[in-house]
Amino acid sequence: MFNVNQTREDFPILKERVHGKPLVYLDNGATTQRPARVIEKMTEYYLRYNANVHRGVHHLSNLCTGANERARERVRDFIHARQAEEIIFTRGTTEAINLVAYSYGEAFVNPGDEIIITEMEHHANIVPWQMLRERKGAVLKILPVRDNGELAMEELPRLLSRATRLVAVTHVSNVLGTINPVRQVIEAAHAAGARVLVDGAQAVQHLPVDVQDMDCDFYAFSAHKMYGPTGVGVLYGKNELLRKMPPWQGGGEMIKEVRFEKTTYNDLPFKFEAGTPDFIGVIGLGEAIDYLESIGMTRIAAREEELARYARQQLKTIPGLVLHGEAPRSSPVISFGIEGVHPLDAGTLLDHLGIAVRTGQMCAEPLMRRYGVTSMIRASLAMYNTLEEIDALRDGIRRVITLLRNGPSTLQHR
Ligand code: PMP
Repeated sequence: MFNVNQTREDFPILKERVHGKPLVYLDNGATTQRPARVIEKMTEYYLRYNANVHRGVHHLSNLCTGANERARERVRDFIHARQAEEIIFTRGTTEAINLVAYSYGEAFVNPGDEIIITEMEHHANIVPWQMLRERKGAVLKILPVRDNGELAMEELPRLLSRATRLVAVTHVSNVLGTINPVRQVIEAAHAAGARVLVDGAQAVQHLPVDVQDMDCDFYAFSAHKMYGPTGVGVLYGKNELLRKMPPWQGGGEMIKEVRFEKTTYNDLPFKFEAGTPDFIGVIGLGEAIDYLESIGMTRIAAREEELARYARQQLKTIPGLVLHGEAPRSSPVISFGIEGVHPLDAGTLLDHLGIAVRTGQMCAEPLMRRYGVTSMIRASLAMYNTLEEIDALRDGIRRVITLLRNGPSTLQHR
C-alpha cells in the first residue's frame, strides 16, 4: 500500500499556505516538489565537500567526482541502460534534445533527409528539429493525433521512408497525459532504418523505464520533474551511435589533448560534457532516484493511476467542462477547458483558493491548434496528491464557474 501521509511528510513545501489557504499543488508536470532529503544532500555537499569534479587530485575533488559518477551509475540502473558512458548529463530535456539535433544532425542528416515528430510534442521536441531543417535542408513530417489524444499510428508507415533519419516522439504527453506506444514506433522506425529519440520528460517520474527493452536510440529527461533539482537532465544514447557523433560544445573536460593545430576529444560520456557540470545537481538527481526507488516505480504508477481515475471521474461531473484527450493508456496529466470561461481567469481564481494549476498553451501550440483552442487548464498530479485535493479542485472549479458566469469578468487578460 502507498502511504500518502508519510510521503507528504517528505515534502515540507506541501505544508505551505497560499493566500491563506492550504497549498494544493497540481502543477507537477511543470516541476515536481523536492523531498527534504534531496535538498539536504545537496546542502551537505555545498557545505562540506564542494570542489570541482574530474580536475583535482585533492580529497574534496575526489569526493565530488566519486559522487558524480555514482549518480551516473544510479541513472544507468534507473533506466536500465547497458553502460554508464551512455548517460550524458545535460541541463535538462531541452538541452538533451538540442544536443541530438545538433550533433546527430551534423553527422547523419543531409539535404532532403526526413525527421518525423508528432503533433503532440512539447516545443522542446519541435523547435530543435526546425532549426536542423534550416541548417541542413531537412524535411519535417508530422504524425497526427486522434481526437481521443492517441497518436494516429496507422499513419506512421506512410510517413516513414528510406529518407527518414530520425523519429522524435514523446513517451508521455505533457498536455493529454497519453502514454504513447513507443515500442511500436521504435520497431517501425528501425525497420525503415531510422533512429528514434524518446522525450521522457513526463514519463520517468510516473512509469518504470527500460531503455534496452524499449530499444530507443536516445532518451531524454529532466531531474526537476522527477523530484530532483533544476538545472540537470539526462541524455541516454546508444554507445555505438554516440561514438559516431561529433561533440557539440567545446571546452574543458571534453578533450584528451589540445594543440593549436589539432585537438583530440575525450571518451564517452565526457565528450559531450564540456565545462564544469552541475555536479551537485547531479548528486541531487542521484538522491531523487534513491528516493523514487525506495517507494518503487510500480507502486508509484499504481497510486497515480488511482488518482488520475478519480480526478477524471470528478471533473466529468462538472457541467460545461471539456476534457481534452482520453486515451486508454494515460498518466495523471489532465487538461481541460470550461465552456464560457477563459483558462487564465480560471487559473487566477483557483490560485486564490490555494490551488496551483497550469493554464496557457503548455509549450505545445500545435496541439492547442489541433484541439481548436488557444489555451487549456491543466491539472498534473503526483504521487503525493490526495483525493481531498482533487475534491478541492472540483469544488474550486464549480465556484469559479459560478463567479464568472454570474457577471462580467473583472479580470483583464482576455
Ligand atoms: N518535453 C516535455 C514533454 C516536457 O513536458 C517538458 C517540460 N515541460 C520538456 C520537454 C522540457 O523540459 P525542460 O524544460 O526541463 O528542459
